[in-house]
Amino acid sequence: MPVPQPLGRSLVPIPGESLPGFLLRLSFRLNLAPAQLAELTGLTAGSGTASRLHAALLTGIPEPGRRLFAHMTRLTDGQVAGLGMAAWQERYPLPACTPGKRPSLPTDRWSLFAPATRYCPECLAGGGSAVQESFGGPWLKSWHLPVVFACPAHQRLLEHRCPECGYAVGAGSGDRASPALLPVMRLGGLHPAQCRAVLVPGGRSRWTLPGCCGARLDQTRPRRHASPGLLALQDKILRLLNPDGPASTVSAGMPASPASYFADLRALGLLAYSTWPETRHLSPSSEIAAAIDQHVASFRQQEAERQANSPESVARTTPPPLDAAVSAGLAHIANSILNGTPDETRRHMRPLLPSSTAKAGRSNWARWVTVSAVPCSEGLQAAYDPLLRRFTSPFGQPRGRSRAVRAARWGPENVPALIPEDWYERHFTPLADVSPILARRTAALRLVQMVAGGSLAEAAHFLGLSSGDGSWPRQGGRVYSSAGIVHSGTRQQPDPSGFEASLRSLARELSDPDMPLVNYQQRRRALQNWSIDEWTWDSLVARMPPISRTHMPDLGDRKRQLASVYVWVRVTVGEPTFAPRPIEAAQPPDVQEDWRRSWNGIWWALLTATKPRAAYTSLRAELDDLASTLAMTIDPSPHGDSSLGTVALYVSRRPRRPRRQRTPGGYFEDDYIE
Ligand SMILES: [Zn+2]
Ligand SMILES: [Zn+2]
Repeated sequence: MPVPQPLGRSLVPIPGESLPGFLLRLSFRLNLAPAQLAELTGLTAGSGTASRLHAALLTGIPEPGRRLFAHMTRLTDGQVAGLGMAAWQERYPLPACTPGKRPSLPTDRWSLFAPATRYCPECLAGGGSAVQESFGGPWLKSWHLPVVFACPAHQRLLEHRCPECGYAVGAGSGDRASPALLPVMRLGGLHPAQCRAVLVPGGRSRWTLPGCCGARLDQTRPRRHASPGLLALQDKILRLLNPDGPASTVSAGMPASPASYFADLRALGLLAYSTWPETRHLSPSSEIAAAIDQHVASFRQQEAERQANSPESVARTTPPPLDAAVSAGLAHIANSILNGTPDETRRHMRPLLPSSTAKAGRSNWARWVTVSAVPCSEGLQAAYDPLLRRFTSPFGQPRGRSRAVRAARWGPENVPALIPEDWYERHFTPLADVSPILARRTAALRLVQMVAGGSLAEAAHFLGLSSGDGSWPRQGGRVYSSAGIVHSGTRQQPDPSGFEASLRSLARELSDPDMPLVNYQQRRRALQNWSIDEWTWDSLVARMPPISRTHMPDLGDRKRQLASVYVWVRVTVGEPTFAPRPIEAAQPPDVQEDWRRSWNGIWWALLTATKPRAAYTSLRAELDDLASTLAMTIDPSPHGDSSLGTVALYVSRRPRRPRRQRTPGGYFEDDYIE
């Protein structure tokens, strides 16, 4: 087949111009119908329809058509590539359009494309150059994206309707007609800025052309101003779309890739839309709020009519709004929710989701954010996780967790009550004035909340921090006031979100398939009221070297209780304060009091003994063996000694009086208690 002659004349694409826009300008210049030009340049070859452009072309022209198109239009490869959105692929989740499938745009309510293009009349009027004067300004490819709602150059909101006929541009006759990339392609002779809405339908024959509105869309008419706030947001969005733009941004207080930021915008935009008017107070202006009111009301009315007509039909999904004011409003609301920390973002989201985590976890929204090809940012995930997930209550039946969405490979059961030292060292920066133990305990509580949801009190119950011997009062739930201390500590750090960021990084490590997971909840349950039984204790003592035994005459119940606590701490990776003490509990009060007085001295000696033959050194060796056997017996698939916790070198101040530590404005009182 001979290589066809290139077109006699062509045009240089205008930066940001879309392929349909380029075709409109070039066909006008060559005095051809766009359909003829598309055929000549191979765009409609093999598509079976000569009068419709495949939606995939908005992304780019696939090979080998791309080479033919470049050849025919005398464009460079770079210029051809520039007409498509593919350059944004990394930054903006574009739908995959398979050639051969329906040539319409994928336009469900989750879609990232506007069904039809919007436009800026002033951009269409051209920038004053001779070429633009003659053949019109560009139709920009970004106008197909719902997140592009304003023209920064002309400081206005984009339009989507023809001011003469009132039809949406590109939507054909009537808003319900499926949008076309380039409507009425067989009709030639129209200026690129002329309205192509069909007012008089053409006949079936290819020779009877439809009658089009033909009004100029580039005429000066009253513009809808975009406020400085909206222009700033539009500018941020366009910079993040730009392949040379910033590689990351901040979303819900944490670093986010542009793609995940856009996923966040869409997720929250949808949430705001489906729960409207819950977030109406966050609208940038009353005009914009009114535009959303109207849009939502008309959608709900259509939905009601549709359901009345065919009650069995599945809920229809709607395309993203055409009206730039509605998109601008939803993007603004989403962006302002994302402006805070994960906690602040969660506070905004809480009223938008069902209050029951089980219900929220099963909502369409939850399903969508979990299966979304491009996941939401770490920050937004941190914000919504606790609202969608709940853990098995240690005091009752599982509460909807099996049905709740579980994205993580780990659950609350894999969190020890005191996060291990090495986890802490890998992910956290020590906080000045806050004990590492307190920080590690807080981290465990927050991890449980993060993956399971619920209040902090529930997390404390789950980790057994509110039971044990009652050092921490269950009543009043002040166990988590410790977490408040950590929080005020983090507030004083140069990086206030550092603690939360560390938590997320630890959570990521737990999600790593190579990270071994231990079911600490199972260990805690197995050892709920546990102590070394007398027989085991006797044989253990008997194994100690005789010289050690002579140095430790008192090897009775008091030592057995303390040794039990030591083993419990190593197996459950918890704190001695929260260990069960059944032997002690069975003693008369005066004995208990006596034991408590000597507790710290003995505990410290057991933890710190180093002399090889010292009594406590050999006792500790025996207890370590016992701990490791115990762990292997409890675990379904034993991990051996590596999964035992080290015992933190601190003594608890026992007997401890429950101290009511108020933390005004603290972390948890505000945010986590339901
Ligand atoms: Zn403009
Ligand atoms: Zn019109």
